[in-house]
Formats: sequence, C-alpha cells, structure tokens
Amino acid sequence: PLNADLHVVNAQVLYDGVVEAVRDVSFSVDAGRIVCLLGANGAGKSTLLKAISGILGPEKGALTKGSITFAGKGLTALSSDGIVRKGIVQVPEGRRLFVNLTVEENLLMGGFTVRAAERAVRLESVYSLFPDLTDHRHRVAGYLSGGQQQMVAIGRALMSSPSLLMLDEPSLGLAPKIVEQIFAAISSLRDSGDIAILLVEQNARLALTISDYGYVLERGRVVFDGDAATLLGSPEIQEFYLGLD
Ligand code: ATP
Repeated sequence: PLNADLHVVNAQVLYDGVVEAVRDVSFSVDAGRIVCLLGANGAGKSTLLKAISGILGPEKGALTKGSITFAGKGLTALSSDGIVRKGIVQVPEGRRLFVNLTVEENLLMGGFTVRAAERAVRLESVYSLFPDLTDHRHRVAGYLSGGQQQMVAIGRALMSSPSLLMLDEPSLGLAPKIVEQIFAAISSLRDSGDIAILLVEQNARLALTISDYGYVLERGRVVFDGDAATLLGSPEIQEFYLGLD
C-alpha cells in the first residue's frame, strides 16, 4: 500500500528516566523490504521494537525524544492495541505460544479480529508458507520442535495480515537447517511486496543474507548502516560483526 512505511526519527528511549537504551536513532522500513537491526546484547534492538509496538510502558521505559510514524501517522500516542490495529505485529523473542493449545488454535488466536471466511483463507496461506505445520495442525504446540514453534509464532502474527512484521531473534537457539527454512519463508513474504519486515538478529551474517538494508547498533546508537550487500562486503563490518557467528 502507498505510504505504508515506518519512520523512526531521532529516537531516544530512557528506562526509569535515566538509562539511555536508545540514543538518537533514525531508520526506515518500506513495504517489500527487509531491514535488519544488528548488534550485540544490550545494543538496544529489543527496546526499539518495544517502542514501535508501544509496550515500553510496563517496563518503565519511554520514548523521550523523537518520533515514530507509520503510513504517515504518529504511533506514539496510541496504545499497543491501537498500534496492532494499524497493522503492526511483533513476533516476540522466545515465541510465547500457548503451549497447551494446538497449532491451529494458536494460529486462530492471531486472527480473532478477522471474519471467519477470511480467517480460513489466511490459515491456508500460513500452512502453505510453512508446510511442516500442516501435519501438526492438531498437535499441542508445546510438543513441537523449537523450529516448528517459531513457525507457529510467525504464522500467528501473519493471521492478521500485518503491514509491518517485526521479528525479534527468530533464529535464536534453532538448528541451521530450520533457520534456513524460516529465513526462506521470511524472504518469500518480502517478495509478496505488500509487507514491510523489521528483523532483529544477533546473527549478523545470516540476517544480512536475506535483508535489503541493515543498521548496526552499539550501546544504543547506529554506528553503521547500508545496503545488506555493502555491509556484508565491508572489511570493518566483517572484522567486528561477522566474525562472531
Ligand atoms: P538483547 O539481544 O539482549 O535483547 P538488545 O540489543 O535487544 O539486546 P535491549 O534489550 O534493547 O538490547 O537493551 C538495551 C539497554 O537497555 C541495555 O543496556 C539494557 O540493560 C537496558 N534495558 C533493557 N531493558 C531494561 C529495563 N526494563 N529496565 C532498565 N534497563 C533496561
């Protein structure tokens, strides 16, 4: 959709009014693109996702400077529910599934605001994106492998047909083969053209292989940004960030 893009401009986030977790950060994500935020533990990546989703409050964090807009409208005055209604959905780190519910029940939870006919269509599109889930649709989610649970978490987010999908460390703790499948699915979502994807990863090399653009954060600041191919080829990035995985 026209203008369905995210702009974070000069953002500062403080925890408890004093801990500066994000310092003067600016970045953008357009529909049809994957943008990744890279950086070590504590660099401020999760804080930025929470600021966009409007869920900093419970942790006593706040956007104290700057602005966050989506599709031309400011998000900062909205509740987290209001932000979800704008089409912004986050897949949280650690997946947070309903482990006692089945795969299908988990997916349906993500589409509860959608009309039944549309919900059925979306359900099938999630199963075609992640064919592995099809045979497990009536299994309890807690019994699935970590990789399959990550697929359910992403599928649940997709049930609401988001305009902006945010993924926090989707590769965390998963075997390389499964990560490859999940990243291929994320990349095919991008190719569909009408969703903007913001990817947070500690595994920089992996993230850059599917991203269009990347931002490297260090202690709350953007220290590098560029096209994914440029970052992958940069000696400085290779030395400090890509040698680590
Ligand atoms: P990780 O991969 O560990 O999640 P990150 O890059 O996402 O790392 P953040 O979790 O955003 O980093 O943390 C950024 C900074 O903010 C860190 O210095 C962290 O200690 C601090 N921080 C995070 N959450 C809180 C909180 N609830 N209260 C106080 N400080 C916090």
